[in-house]
Amino acid sequence: MPLISSTQMLQTARKNNYAVAAFNVHTLEMLQAVVEAAQETQSPLIIQSTVGTVKHLGPDYIAAAATVAANRTGLPIALHLDHCTDFPLLVQCIRAGYTSVMIDASMHTFEENVARTSKVMEIAAAAGVNVEAELGKVGGVEDDIVVDERDALLADPDECVQFVERTGVNTLAPAIGTAHGIYKGDPNIDFARIGEIASRIETPLVLHGGSGIPADQVKRAVSLGMAKMNIATELRIAFSDAIKAIFAQYPDENDPRKYMVPAKEAVKRLAIEKMELCGCIGKAGEVKS
Ligand SMILES: [Zn+2]
Repeated sequence: MPLISSTQMLQTARKNNYAVAAFNVHTLEMLQAVVEAAQETQSPLIIQSTVGTVKHLGPDYIAAAATVAANRTGLPIALHLDHCTDFPLLVQCIRAGYTSVMIDASMHTFEENVARTSKVMEIAAAAGVNVEAELGKVGGVEDDIVVDERDALLADPDECVQFVERTGVNTLAPAIGTAHGIYKGDPNIDFARIGEIASRIETPLVLHGGSGIPADQVKRAVSLGMAKMNIATELRIAFSDAIKAIFAQYPDENDPRKYMVPAKEAVKRLAIEKMELCGCIGKAGEVKS
């Protein structure tokens, strides 16, 4: 199966009250690890890369590896560009084979966000590519986008309704109190707000800042309408910690396979845990291409 758009995958998830886990990967091994996790559990999968990783690896390399994964496994797999503010890069990713893109214009005014998202919708719709947008501001640091926690504004439900009507955006990430990176205390998630937004729009909702949210809170957010959960930081930590552990024991190790194999295993284990929380295990067969 080729890579598919995440639109129908996420609509199915929303309708059936589960979320698809979306993993930010930075290396071939991380990509293979989340694919193996999906294969072992027969889960739909979204592979994501940030703008920084796209620049680091090249969108064509990433798209080629994700395409191999989809063809080999026959699983419903989408390839998503996370938090993009750079229009030409977004177009470049679509041309390279990305099947989903996030236009993040949340730092602009509502009107400007509508205008920028609509512009991306025109291009993406023609290519059959899913579009995600953000309303309000998710706190923390994502690549080079820094939002001071005090400025982290939550999404307004009225604006969510208007935004979806005016842009026709396929998936929406409303800021509801989560943050990027690892939480110092427990996250302060506004569940009532998720519930209100979900009751007013059918659009699949996206939970950003999924790393380190306690299990019961993830499940609650998913039950309220979050149909995609992004996991980035926790995955990087699992990957890096496994490598550090090898070097702590064997400081002279110089065969990359010796430290990449355990790093890959660590990412795979964590990915399966996150898929369990999302409730997407065994759901691959539900998604039509
Ligand atoms: Zn995010």
